[in-house]
Amino acid sequence: MTADTRNTRLGPAERDRALTALARTEHQVLVVGGGVVGAGVALDAATRGLSVGLIEARDFGSGTSSRSSKLIHGGLRYLEQLNIGLVREALTERSLLLQRLAPHLVRPVSFLFPFTHHVWERAYIGAGVTAYDLLGMTMGQAKGLPGHRQLTRHAALRLAPALKRSAVTGALVYWDAQVDDARYVLTLLRTAAGYGANVVSRTQVTGFLREGERVTGVRAVDLETGRELEIRAQQVVNATGVWTDEIQQMVGGRGMINVRASKGIHLVVPRDRLQSNTGIILRTEKSVLFIIPWGRHWIVGTTDTDWTLDKAHPAASRADIDYVLAQVNRVLAVPLTREDVAGVYAGLRPLLAGESDSTSRLSREHVVAHPVPGLVMIAGGKYTTYRLMARDAVDAVAHGLDWRVPPSCTDEVPLAGADGYLPLWNARHRLARSSGLHVARIEHLLGRYGALATEVLDMIAAEPDLGRPLTGAEDYLRAEVSYAASHEGARHLDDVLARRTHISIETWDRGLSAAAEAAELLAKPLRWDDRQVANEIGHYLATIEAERASQEEATDQAADALLLDAPDIVPVIS
Ligand SMILES: Cc1cc2nc3c(=O)[nH]c(=O)nc-3n(C[C@H](O)[C@H](O)[C@H](O)COP(=O)(O)OP(=O)(O)OC[C@H]3O[C@@H](n4cnc5c(N)ncnc54)[C@H](O)[C@@H]3O)c2cc1C
Repeated sequence: MTADTRNTRLGPAERDRALTALARTEHQVLVVGGGVVGAGVALDAATRGLSVGLIEARDFGSGTSSRSSKLIHGGLRYLEQLNIGLVREALTERSLLLQRLAPHLVRPVSFLFPFTHHVWERAYIGAGVTAYDLLGMTMGQAKGLPGHRQLTRHAALRLAPALKRSAVTGALVYWDAQVDDARYVLTLLRTAAGYGANVVSRTQVTGFLREGERVTGVRAVDLETGRELEIRAQQVVNATGVWTDEIQQMVGGRGMINVRASKGIHLVVPRDRLQSNTGIILRTEKSVLFIIPWGRHWIVGTTDTDWTLDKAHPAASRADIDYVLAQVNRVLAVPLTREDVAGVYAGLRPLLAGESDSTSRLSREHVVAHPVPGLVMIAGGKYTTYRLMARDAVDAVAHGLDWRVPPSCTDEVPLAGADGYLPLWNARHRLARSSGLHVARIEHLLGRYGALATEVLDMIAAEPDLGRPLTGAEDYLRAEVSYAASHEGARHLDDVLARRTHISIETWDRGLSAAAEAAELLAKPLRWDDRQVANEIGHYLATIEAERASQEEATDQAADALLLDAPDIVPVIS
């Protein structure tokens, strides 16, 4: 099965059409929340032949699903907790994503695990990683990744010269996978749109339509225009992550899921500040810390602390940043300082609340609940297992529909851009010659868009000026900014600088010098006048300023207060 690539476009005209369809026609399934779980539900339902709508209050993926460690993994930590079932499931998903569903977006990454004790640690960790490798074999089939190998101290230091000698007695290297989380959500949604889903961002659910106890749809507001909508659906699926409680309040507190938010922050550090040919994983007192290769950068994180403040903009405080630096500096020969940090981001884990007081020990598994007829709630889980969460939610939906719904088939559905990716990759030198772009640029495009990169190349062929690098963020082409608005549902400058690209965390000035040129490029597809262009730039600058100031504050409360002072370009209704 392949999505009709002509219909995977999510531009302004498609948004208008989708809103009209949602307001006019009762859909079988309406998904609330455009993070990875909601996007997965939309695709699962659409590929079972159901009519599907999805509404997201902010930008697609702007909640937790763009703020993760970006790993598709079983989690060695869960293995240590003997959560074998969870690890096996996640590793099966890992190989499916790597090999069949999204080879253009999910890629292998190796991690070096340094030992600090002599004999027992090598035996203990080695046994764990052997089990991890074996669990990754799906029913005897290749898992798409090399197995782990043990290293002497000398070999470990050769592979990761950044480590200080005293911090390593030996090591092992194992393989996992990584993903651009924000782009993956977007690609899921484009794929769902290709199968007929009506997908809309910046539209907030404010209440439910009811017939007696039954939920028959939602009340929503198109935040771009203020227009109020009534959207009817046979089944509503709530996939709002850490906002689950707010939605439960709307059904009169009739919730069954208790979600608690735990904050994790990451630092983005240029590649040359830390010499290593592999990612690194370190044990910390409470959990683990990753040093993850990310293009020309490293992502270093994360933390795990309770968060009860503003959910849309979790703030990284000075204390969070200093904690991560202190942890990573335990093993580095040349310590990292705050001056080495190019970007910082924070996200909230939607944890199912359990008995334990320590958030790092709460379950990452998911739950599906059916609190009232017509409403299915799904929460918890982790990015890696989104497809299984989506399958379970749509299975629950199927019980409420007067129609025999076929089983989930998303394990057979490659995402938009996956089909044809490999032949294009193999032809990248030819593409470079025909487009006039350097082969490194073609590789960059293929890694972000897969086979859909040809759409970006077509734009450049029609308007060669779009083939120039974006000033201030030269890793990206100007065409990628335009394409974000015309095909990828970006509606504002921040959508492009923070999620379609990652300029806001990958450049020293956090995208400030790229902002004006990017806004000018967006003006055409989004039909902005000069005032709107200025407004977008002003908002972006204010947000970055507030973020930077918040990262100097010692406490969560003080950091949060500063972020609240910089309102969103399209504020949600509180
Ligand atoms: C620091 C950190 C690191 C992580 N690392 C990993 C990792 O490496 N690997 C892994 O597998 N998992 C990881 N996770 C977990 C994973 O990121 C999350 O489990 C997953 O992204 C949650 O997705 P979601 O769709 O449930 O929530 P979200 O992405 O938050 O989506 C919910 C959406 O609902 C929308 N919404 C809320 N209210 C409304 C409303 N009224 N109307 C319309 N829309 C609404 C929100 O705007 C939001 O976009 C990590 C999480 C964190 C915080």
